[in-house]
Amino acid sequence: MRKKIVAGNWKMNKTFGEAEKLIADIAASLEGMELKDTEVILCPPFVYLEMATDIAEESKFRVGAQNMNDHDLGAFTGEISAIMLNSLDVKYVIIGHSERRQHYNENHEFLAGKVNAAIRHQIQPIFCCGEILAEREAGTHFTIVKKQLDDSVFQLLPEHFKQVILAYEPVWAIGTGVNATPEQAQEMHLYIRETIAEKYDRQIADDTTILYGGSCNSKNARELFIQPDVDGGLIGGSSLKADEFIAVVTSL
Ligand code: PEP
Repeated sequence: MRKKIVAGNWKMNKTFGEAEKLIADIAASLEGMELKDTEVILCPPFVYLEMATDIAEESKFRVGAQNMNDHDLGAFTGEISAIMLNSLDVKYVIIGHSERRQHYNENHEFLAGKVNAAIRHQIQPIFCCGEILAEREAGTHFTIVKKQLDDSVFQLLPEHFKQVILAYEPVWAIGTGVNATPEQAQEMHLYIRETIAEKYDRQIADDTTILYGGSCNSKNARELFIQPDVDGGLIGGSSLKADEFIAVVTSL
C-alpha cells in the first residue's frame, strides 16, 4: 500500500529561533496524534537541517531538504550534496520545484542527475512536476508533465523508481491562493499513475505516492486529499504556521 504524506516546504523563510519554535510546536502537536500510515516531513532551509533532525529523533516527523547538487563532492561552491544530507540523517529531498526550474534554470537533464544522486545515497526524492498557466490554457498540461517525468525520473530502474515520491504542483497554483480544483488534481494524478503503469507496471503505479501542491491549506486540503489518486500534499505557505500545518495534516 502506498504511503500517505504531508510535507512542508518552508522555502527561504524563518530565522533560526523561529524555525526552532515552529518545529517544536509541530512536534508537540504531533505527539498527541495517531498518525497511522501518514508520514509528516518538514523541509526547512539547509542551515536548520541539523537542528531539525536532532528534534526529529524524538518526534513523529521526518526531515527533508529543499534541494541538493547532482555531484557527490568537489569544487561546487555553495552547493550541498546527497552525501552531506545523508550524514545528517536527512532522508528526503525536494527535486525539480518550479521555483528552481524558473529562477535557477534547472533543466530536465540536471534534475535527472540530482534524482540519480539522491537514489545512490538512499535519499527519497520528492520530484515536482507541473505545468504553467499558459500550458494549461493551451491544453498541453498532460504532455508537459509527461515530458518532465520522461526526462528526469523515468530513466530509473524499477527498483529505484520505487523510492521516488511525486508531487504534482501546477505552477499557476503555487503561492497564488488559487488551488487546482479537486477534479483537476484527480484528473492529473490519475494520468500520472497510468503513465507510471505504462512505463513500469501496475503494482509500481499503485504503490507510488503522488502528492498535490499549490495553495493547499486547512480549508481546501480535505476535498483534495479525499480524491482517490491524491496521496497527500506538498505544502508551502500553509506549512509556516504550526496550527495551520497541523490542520492540513489532520485533513489527510
Ligand atoms: C510549494 O512551493 O511547493 C507550494 C505548494 O507552495 P504553496 O503551498 O505556498 O502554494
